[in-house]
Amino acid sequence: MKFGVLALQGDFAEHIATLKRLGVEEVEVRLPRDLEGLSGLIIPGGESTTIGKLATWYGLMEPLREFGRERPIWGTCAGAILLARDVGRDQPLLGLMDITVVRNAFGRQVDSFEIDLNVPALANSTGDAAPYHAIFIRAPIIERLGPSVQPLATLPDGRIVAAQQGKLLATSFHPELTRDDRFHRYFIRLAE
Ligand code: GLN
Repeated sequence: MKFGVLALQGDFAEHIATLKRLGVEEVEVRLPRDLEGLSGLIIPGGESTTIGKLATWYGLMEPLREFGRERPIWGTCAGAILLARDVGRDQPLLGLMDITVVRNAFGRQVDSFEIDLNVPALANSTGDAAPYHAIFIRAPIIERLGPSVQPLATLPDGRIVAAQQGKLLATSFHPELTRDDRFHRYFIRLAE
């Protein structure tokens, strides 16, 4: 199995490093042909408007949509925004997940924070029920889930920060910035 990381902008190098650490074959995706033969794709954090513009520029939007109709895609932070159907403003989106996302949902003072989350799906899949230490950086919130979407993690106030629709995964936070690779393993398992 080979996994791709969309490498147009943002922290793709950290995802690549995590996949390497897990012994998974990985490739940086910049052009439509890079998607050939991949078992799954990660869209990293960064700036969703920039990633969307570059993906449009490189003719990647439709190939990415086709990819996501059959194969797993995981978006972290900006990547989650790109997967969404609606973000309440005009910017290039893949629209693959039936979710509405609010960008920069934590305002200015609290742009970044870290918190331990309870993620039952991770515990079931990896057998490790330890809390998941999540890093939020100018993070979005998943405000609405369509009927085919399951919440995977919520903040103590109930706001949704991780969701899954079939083989599509969206997290508001950045598992690639921690040493905890359970989310990466969870995603790899989706592709098996
Ligand atoms: N605030 C960014 C956006 O709206 C996302 C931030 C991130 O990926 N850490 O695209």
